[in-house]
Amino acid sequence: MSFEPTCIFCKIVRGEIPAAEVARDADALVFRDVNPKAPTHLLVVPTRHVTNLGDFATKAEPHEIGKLFALAAKYGREASPGGYRVVVNEGADAGQTVFHLHLHVLAGRPMRWPPG
Ligand code: 5GP
Ligand code: ZN
Repeated sequence: MSFEPTCIFCKIVRGEIPAAEVARDADALVFRDVNPKAPTHLLVVPTRHVTNLGDFATKAEPHEIGKLFALAAKYGREASPGGYRVVVNEGADAGQTVFHLHLHVLAGRPMRWPPG
């Protein structure tokens, strides 16, 4: 499994930094965002280090990407059956600040469109 020693989410995956974990298996980890932007704000990450969605899309098997979205849907629906949002920021222009792929799951409040 690839691991980037300076990556904060790799450290969370390895338990070197504590996080409020919701679910974990060999491929993916779901945990609570430390600075939530909604009543429920989860992050879904692959356990191996991948910088962003585009990188993952070219290097991973399609089922690996599908699994991350399936987890986002499971926990999004569970938190907010009336609706939730899944966001992936790729690159600084989109607001990506942690360069280990993560799906944001935002739930528990009405969402505006379009996002800023
Ligand atoms: P980005 O801006 O890259 O799309 O999202 C990064 C997210 O990671 C932010 O929402 C931020 O609050 C969250 N985050 C950054 N550092 C930590 C941390 O150490 N623990 C947790 N649980 N979330 C973090
Ligand atoms: Zn990483």
